[in-house]
Amino acid sequence: MRPVSFSLYIHIPYCEAKCPYCDFNSYAVKGWPETQYVDALIAEMRARAVQAPWAGARVRTVFFGGGTPSLFDPRSLERVLEEARRLFGIESDAEITAEANPGTVSAQKLRGMRTAGINRISLGAQSFNPATLRFLGRIHSADQTIAAVKQARAAGFAQLNLDLIFAVPGQRLEDAAADIDAAAALGPDHISAYNLTFEEGTAFGAALKAGRMRQLPDETQAAMYAMVRRELARRGYPMYEISNYARPGCEARHNLTYWRGESYLALGAGAHSYAAEGPAGRRWWNLRLPQAYIAAATTNGVAQAGGETLDAGVSASEFTFLNLRLTAGLELRRFEQRFGVSFEQRFGVQQKRLTEGGLLLHEGGRIRLSERGLELADSVFAEFL
Ligand code: SF4
Repeated sequence: MRPVSFSLYIHIPYCEAKCPYCDFNSYAVKGWPETQYVDALIAEMRARAVQAPWAGARVRTVFFGGGTPSLFDPRSLERVLEEARRLFGIESDAEITAEANPGTVSAQKLRGMRTAGINRISLGAQSFNPATLRFLGRIHSADQTIAAVKQARAAGFAQLNLDLIFAVPGQRLEDAAADIDAAAALGPDHISAYNLTFEEGTAFGAALKAGRMRQLPDETQAAMYAMVRRELARRGYPMYEISNYARPGCEARHNLTYWRGESYLALGAGAHSYAAEGPAGRRWWNLRLPQAYIAAATTNGVAQAGGETLDAGVSASEFTFLNLRLTAGLELRRFEQRFGVSFEQRFGVQQKRLTEGGLLLHEGGRIRLSERGLELADSVFAEFL
């Protein structure tokens, strides 16, 4: 079934410096081939625009992620949007987000981004504590984040997200609480708060492995997560996804596409796309290195490095644990519409076990995680694999 609309992700892989915890496909560079990269994005978009399921469907959300999209001239981002408008059409009420590093924006750049058609800005604040920012290798100060929020407001951005990281080694509960306070005081409509993870292939991952760094104890991390949920809700930002909080009605529409298991087209170096095809699905990904991506996309239109078809069984598993990330949970009717069997027929055994164990709740035609299920989310998700 062809989607009527879809979400478009654009990856900008360049950064000023590589943060030691970051496992995104991003590269610290002094200069970047901006024009060639945008030419490659446009070539890839043209090639995908004639393919199913994107041909004939409109764009309902766009997300410029990275990397650091705010390194680019706003006119470069505008070129990408113009092409998307020409090839697919962008819905008039589309959510168009760009990530921005507070160390790379200015009043002028933010005005340019707004003029380019971007209507939502996501600032990587991470913390307001100088020691934590230094530890995380961030290139900006808390004052720069505060200034960026003011400049974004002045530029006309009504929709604004702040990213935070907690459970940083050395951080105390009151430090994390102070960050929540500082973020909420700036009045964004959306806050993402991520528990720091130590991923393979990152500087922090290596330091952990070598015993040069230690994670906070599990119970401290759990206490911080509980505090984040409670304090953000108290300030008008109830949790709607495991790491995301918003004023009611301000949930990120682009990310909801991912969590609801719907189709998205992702362009750029290392970008992963997903097409839901009836009960099955298809995923593919691009060459990771920016230069290899530019060369392939410019020559062939596509720069695909690999792909896989997901049968109905795998798709049903993914659909389940993605939807369970949402506080609203999984809508049983949608599961049945997509997979042609009821959730109970497919996952009745797991549902019974997890419900009896107090980890899942079943109410109002939905299945969702309980408070305890939220704390043990990864083990709940593993039950559906
Ligand atoms: S700025 Fe963002 S994308 Fe770039 S290295 Fe840091 S966390 Fe990763």
